[in-house]
Amino acid sequence: MTQYWGYDTFLPLQKEAMECIVQGQDSVVVLPTGGGKSLCFQAPAAIMKGLTLVISPLISLMKDQVDALTEVGVPAARLDSSLSVAEQNAVFTAIQDKTIKLLYLSPERLVSESFLEILLHTELSFIAIDEAHCVSMWGHDFRPEYRQLGLLKQKFPDITIAAYTATATEQVREDIAEQLHLKDCQMLVGSFDRPSLVYKVQPRNNILKQVCTVLERHKNESGIIYCIRRKDVDQLCVNLKDHGYNAVPYHAGMTNEGRKKNQDRFINEKVDIIVATVAFGMGIDKSNVRYVIHTGMPKSLEHYQQESGRAGRDGLEAECCLFYSWGDYGIWKSLMRDMPAEAQKSAMLKLQEIYNFCTGGVCRHKTILQYFGQDLAKDSCNACDICLGELECIKDELITSQKILSCIMRLDQRFGGEYTALVLTGSQEKRIIENNHHNLSTYGLLGDYSKHTVHGWIEQLVGQGCIEKTGEYNVLTVTPKGWTVLKDKEKPRLLKPTERPAKVSKVVNDSWDGVDKGLFGILRKLRAQIAGQSKVPAFIIFSDAALRDMARRKPTTRETLLEVKGVGEKKCKQYGQVILSAIKDYCQENVYYEDFEG
Ligand code: ADP
Repeated sequence: MTQYWGYDTFLPLQKEAMECIVQGQDSVVVLPTGGGKSLCFQAPAAIMKGLTLVISPLISLMKDQVDALTEVGVPAARLDSSLSVAEQNAVFTAIQDKTIKLLYLSPERLVSESFLEILLHTELSFIAIDEAHCVSMWGHDFRPEYRQLGLLKQKFPDITIAAYTATATEQVREDIAEQLHLKDCQMLVGSFDRPSLVYKVQPRNNILKQVCTVLERHKNESGIIYCIRRKDVDQLCVNLKDHGYNAVPYHAGMTNEGRKKNQDRFINEKVDIIVATVAFGMGIDKSNVRYVIHTGMPKSLEHYQQESGRAGRDGLEAECCLFYSWGDYGIWKSLMRDMPAEAQKSAMLKLQEIYNFCTGGVCRHKTILQYFGQDLAKDSCNACDICLGELECIKDELITSQKILSCIMRLDQRFGGEYTALVLTGSQEKRIIENNHHNLSTYGLLGDYSKHTVHGWIEQLVGQGCIEKTGEYNVLTVTPKGWTVLKDKEKPRLLKPTERPAKVSKVVNDSWDGVDKGLFGILRKLRAQIAGQSKVPAFIIFSDAALRDMARRKPTTRETLLEVKGVGEKKCKQYGQVILSAIKDYCQENVYYEDFEG
């Protein structure tokens, strides 16, 4: 692992996952995005006898991984429909001559009769199945072709199978083991927490300004901006250009070529910003995405975790900003109107959960983890707007909450959020007068605030479990937790209703500690040049973590360069000289500068 990849420590569960393979035990490995799943099978494959098969659903994923393996000096190839006949024949020859250690292929290809025939005469080490949730109907991305992989145990009863996924639910996990007929399967489930992601969630008010504030914090860094609708993507791109940002669009309404071109420009760091619908993302392995912005609320926390999870795959800190509004809730709800009743019920529940996540004042990491049935081991994540204390609350939270809750009680728990807000703000609307609600003792109690603000607080109390919305009309009812607030036993959090720019977050780890940012910038440019020449994405040449470590240690010899995290023998040989001379030049210039100043 050190020789090829330059890593000398394991990420959580990597060692256990590798041990399963070496000991011949079937396994299902569930690790979050960026958890280092690839290395779990690549490292054993590099040292074990025979050929390792890796099943992957997407050509782009296969290509990235084969490129990365080739870069570190592990011989690998892929077999897919984009290869010419001559290229495919070359792969068959490589299999026969045993000159490759890993072969990436699609499930359809693997189970084709002719290919199985070849494999029966090939020495196999083990079979790795990437994105294994595609096997399960319960997963979010079921693919019927994956079902055929059930055949593998029958055809190769003695070959170990290792399945990998980032999908968390237990139902999917169990289903994977069952569908693949795994024997005595070891389940390795990692924590779903991504401590290096800093979550920030704010109501949307001036989206362009809000987005630009985030972009200012991430100059010259790669990021994804998600919009719900295609037309929002196009509009935001135009607006950002007007503000001097170079952003490219990506959505299903564009031609294949247009999409591919923009995706490549983003991956190869020709542009830093991609504005996209959720059509963008699957198969994008770019490890140094430093921020993901959502300009609207996704339809579930599962989706949010997937999309925001595309940030910081390299384990370095990254920011995930979500701007939401009550209107987003309405858009999704209307899109769900035609779903079958059962599916609609579950979709609505998920929608409510993400809305509560947005409006509630509970630690974002904790909420996401709880959604996946796990718990945060510490009291504060120190990496979300709530725990960093970035959200300013109103001073009289308890009294304001009590006014809202008692108004709901006075309304006999028979009205929705909007109506309750109207009563609290003392609206003269006809229906309120007709219902005689202008005579309630709680009428006009929050008359100093707008209806919008009070409605927002009501949602925040829903998010914190003090109020529940019930029935078709989202009628508000006070929960047992709400009663503890009414009895002064608990104080909920209500956000101050002013628009303020977000503060710069404290980084959650010290990954910039000691890094010479000037040198980092130079190395980043050098990496882009090398990537351009070798026609592979920049982050495959060196990760951001490796570049930062170089800019921290400033190695000037081959030996010290090898001490950098993420630099193995092959990369050292290939790029060592240019990197070392760039560092030397930089150091010399700096010394000169310091001397001059002195
Ligand atoms: P996943 O497939 O689980 O999303 P990847 O396999 O793409 O994750 O790995 C995420 C990042 O972590 C990559 O940049 C990879 O090089 C890095 N990585 C993997 N294993 C280690 C390790 N043991 N030490 C440091 N970095 C690692």
